[in-house]
Amino acid sequence: MKFKKQKDVRKKIALERIDLLLKMAKAKAKGGPEDLKLSKRYVQLVERIRKRFNIRRTDEMKRAYCKQCCAYWVPGQTLKARFDKKNKLKLYICQSCGKVYKYPYK
Ligand SMILES: [Zn+2]
Repeated sequence: MKFKKQKDVRKKIALERIDLLLKMAKAKAKGGPEDLKLSKRYVQLVERIRKRFNIRRTDEMKRAYCKQCCAYWVPGQTLKARFDKKNKLKLYICQSCGKVYKYPYK
């Protein structure tokens, strides 16, 4: 039981770090090429922490950055959002690597 508690604490710290890194990535995402590189680096760190601690991507995280190229999404800049009304899908197109994400909407 003691072990489990320790693990929970570590996971909590990991989540706090992820939160902080995403904020830093967001702050850099609107800057120049050097800032964008840093922004990607922060997201890469988020992914590393997430995998290590087996943390699932929250809805918020799913809409925050590209899983494939680690670009932080700024709507209209690094992200294009489109609606597929026929299939009731919201399409997120990463402008950095071109990957298309599909999310259902109501
Ligand atoms: Zn991408």
